[in-house]
Amino acid sequence: MQDALAKINISQKHRAVAGGTNLIDLMKYFITDAAELVDVNTIPQHHAIEELPDGGLRLGALTTNAETAYHPLVESRYPLLSKAILAGASAQIRNMATNGGNLMQRTRCYYFYDVNTPCNKRTPGSGCAAIGGYNRTMAIMGTSEHCIAVFPSDMCVALAALNAVVNIEGPDGDRQLPFADFHRLPGDTPHLDNNLKDGELISSIDLPAEGFPQHYSYLKLRDRNSYAFALVSVATAFELCDTGISKARIALGGVAHRPWRVTEAEVFLNGKDPVRVNFEAAADIILQGAVPFEHNAFKIELAKRAIVRNCMMALDPDTQLPGAQPSH
Ligand SMILES: Cc1cc2nc3c(=O)[nH]c(=O)nc-3n(C[C@H](O)[C@H](O)[C@H](O)COP(=O)(O)OP(=O)(O)OC[C@H]3O[C@@H](n4cnc5c(N)ncnc54)[C@H](O)[C@@H]3O)c2cc1C
Ligand code: SF4
Repeated sequence: MQDALAKINISQKHRAVAGGTNLIDLMKYFITDAAELVDVNTIPQHHAIEELPDGGLRLGALTTNAETAYHPLVESRYPLLSKAILAGASAQIRNMATNGGNLMQRTRCYYFYDVNTPCNKRTPGSGCAAIGGYNRTMAIMGTSEHCIAVFPSDMCVALAALNAVVNIEGPDGDRQLPFADFHRLPGDTPHLDNNLKDGELISSIDLPAEGFPQHYSYLKLRDRNSYAFALVSVATAFELCDTGISKARIALGGVAHRPWRVTEAEVFLNGKDPVRVNFEAAADIILQGAVPFEHNAFKIELAKRAIVRNCMMALDPDTQLPGAQPSH
């Protein structure tokens, strides 16, 4: 492991490769280059899924998305995570893609992939072709005048709802970041997707003991029902008691530069009856600050409806609709 860390730390041009499903594409498009690829799959301790003494579960950064989604402890205790992972990519890609790579994947903004257009994320200071361009898939929350891209992961939306923690190893030692602090908003540094420092590696992701196995749902809305990124996705988890909702978690994907959670909406639902009218009010709170662009205003209403529908489905996970089925 020290070898891999030392090599990553030589320069920014030494890049870690895990499953390669995003990095190699980026290299083929001349968006990322690398003096040397460091195969981090050689770090055995980053592959495990293991129970933690506090009742939580540790997911190795190098465990594949498929191994994670189908692991018996994930399926039984964190079905929301299993469902979100299976809504992403395809079976073949999930067999290669790793958990660490999923957190680190880059945006799918069309202009980011087109080196003939300005893009502050790809080339800082060059401008943003999406703001005045075709911005149907772009963000409606947390945007800046420099970038309106969305973070495309499904898995990370569930990890945000579950209050996961990211374990990091680096030249200055080990550290942890709460999931909410891992990904960044674009601000005036859109080239930075997250708060991982140069030379650091994600070693694992911890799930707290609370997994919401009774009341959960992941809904992904997209242009095709398979092999497509989310226009809007929602991860919902509830704890219910005799008097109503005792705990609520709602995270959105496809609407911002990071998974989007609005704590006020979750607090609003605490103690309320689990009924449509309350879910509609929570959706209004979540979308309160949304700012649309020319082609993506539809996302505001889509997100509100997705939240309400997903909250209803979370009450009885058996009612989940085909849109939430695995992507093949
Ligand atoms: C056609 C296609 C469709 C897809 N659809 C979806 C989808 O619907 N939903 C979805 O969520 N995802 C989707 N994906 C993205 C896929 O989930 C990611 O490509 C994958 O998770 C990346 O993991 P990887 O191991 O292959 O990463 P790599 O490609 O190996 O690496 C990606 C980045 O992560 C860095 N990295 C890797 N491991 C670590 C680590 N341990 N610590 C620090 N940095 C690390 C690499 O240096 C690189 O910068 C799709 C991908 C493709 C190609
Ligand atoms: S939205 Fe972000 S990623 Fe897309 S062109 Fe603008 S700066 Fe680049």
